Amino acid sequence: MIDLRSDTVTKPTPAMRQAMFEAEVGDDVYREDPTVNRLEARAAEIAGKEAALFVPTGTMGNTIAIKVLTEHGQEVICDSRAHLLDYELSMMAWFSGCLVRAIPTERGLLSWDAVRRQIRPVNPYGAPTGAVAVEQTHNMAGGTVYPMSTLCEICDGAHERGVRVHMDGARIFNASAALGIPVHEIASRADTLMFCLSKGLGAPSGSILAGPASLMDKGRLYRKRLGGGMRQVGMLAAAGLVALEESPAKLVIDHANAKFLAEGLAKVPGVQIDPSKVETNIVVFDVSATGHAPADVSARLRQRGILMNAINDRCVRAVTHYDVDRAQCIAALEAVTETLLETQAATTASAKTS
Ligand SMILES: *Cc1c(COP(=O)(O)O)cnc(C)c1O
Repeated sequence: MIDLRSDTVTKPTPAMRQAMFEAEVGDDVYREDPTVNRLEARAAEIAGKEAALFVPTGTMGNTIAIKVLTEHGQEVICDSRAHLLDYELSMMAWFSGCLVRAIPTERGLLSWDAVRRQIRPVNPYGAPTGAVAVEQTHNMAGGTVYPMSTLCEICDGAHERGVRVHMDGARIFNASAALGIPVHEIASRADTLMFCLSKGLGAPSGSILAGPASLMDKGRLYRKRLGGGMRQVGMLAAAGLVALEESPAKLVIDHANAKFLAEGLAKVPGVQIDPSKVETNIVVFDVSATGHAPADVSARLRQRGILMNAINDRCVRAVTHYDVDRAQCIAALEAVTETLLETQAATTASAKTS
């Protein structure tokens, strides 16, 4: 199987497994796991924040971030396809008691102008704005990257109005590789940053939430409430430390593979994708003009040993990562091309007979 469903499918490298085997551990709820403490210190440094928390998932990191940045009954502004909104089981409402103010965007990226118009001053009718959430890179929009200037405008503008900013940087290392700018600089103006160790960086699981020490102290308690108080979790932190040191430099290879896939897909009749807009490791392509449903394409590809997810009623998503090399991308591209042409032939044939 060539698995392009997500970069979450990456398996830990031999170096990670060795580090896990050798990890020094303790009870992390007592803050006595030396490996977790090292990971949190290193992650804070990379994020350019005072402190960091090791959390089991990105969803928990985002959940805690929104909780510490907002009060019950406030609004959180994000784009309308945000992971926080569509893939986290309404945790903003369920756990933090916040409404979402979703802004439709072309490429998943908010602008200060759009955000500004949705910030609500205190008044007797509307929910006040508590936070803005930006997704860097944007998953469902196809790994799109916020330019620094846009991020600065949003963060500075929000702060001027007393609104805080969370960066859902699940794939911030991909953004960093694409922009050639270090993570701490990309996240510098955001109050909190979440990033995943378990995606393109390849750790078996775990994410980081980073921000001011006072917020991370509060966040530690929310992590416990959510069932994220883990014990000898240095085993996982050890893999995370290797991921932080060794994986970021390799992401450019995934980006080149994604570009390669996008360029190939753009040549398939009926497929809509602009390869120049594929900036990182996510390739979202529209198959609606091929006359076949994305779910069917995904099912047919599976029969050929290629895994890609249908993400809506028009698009299929392929995500590159270090467990799929260029040769496998070539094979995947051939399979997609054949599948879509087959589909078109079948559709034409059935149109003729009917
Ligand atoms: C994957 C992802 C998350 C977190 O996902 P988990 O599966 O909970 O680790 C958050 N935001 C974005 C944009 C993601 O792609």
